[in-house]
Amino acid sequence: MAFSVLIVDDCSAMQTVIRRILGISGFDVDACYFASDGEEALAILHSHHVSIVISDVNMPRLDGEGMLRRITEDKDLCHVPVVMVSSDATANRADRLLSMGAKAYLVKPFRPHEFRDQLERVLECVHA
Ligand SMILES: [Mg+2]
Repeated sequence: MAFSVLIVDDCSAMQTVIRRILGISGFDVDACYFASDGEEALAILHSHHVSIVISDVNMPRLDGEGMLRRITEDKDLCHVPVVMVSSDATANRADRLLSMGAKAYLVKPFRPHEFRDQLERVLECVHA
């Protein structure tokens, strides 16, 4: 299944890691966009077709939580699934983001197969 992905992280090394995991997991990525904060991500979402957003939480300017709120409140963007990736392993953080509409919450560092399983689940739900 081909799709376009937006990877949002203020750490460029993490952007690269996620892109590589997508590749080795066999996802057929048509287009991959990168943003280093929520504001940049929203600009891309408003100008490109994006199938799924994979986003860090802690970022400058607009963090992952603020970005998620803006996406879920936007009638043009609210259908785009957002997967959060964070080094914050507290259940509170994960629960809040999931209740706000995030489709998955992965704690860094994660194993590639965990990432693949979660992403497959999210994409199946979207295309069901
Ligand atoms: Mg960060």
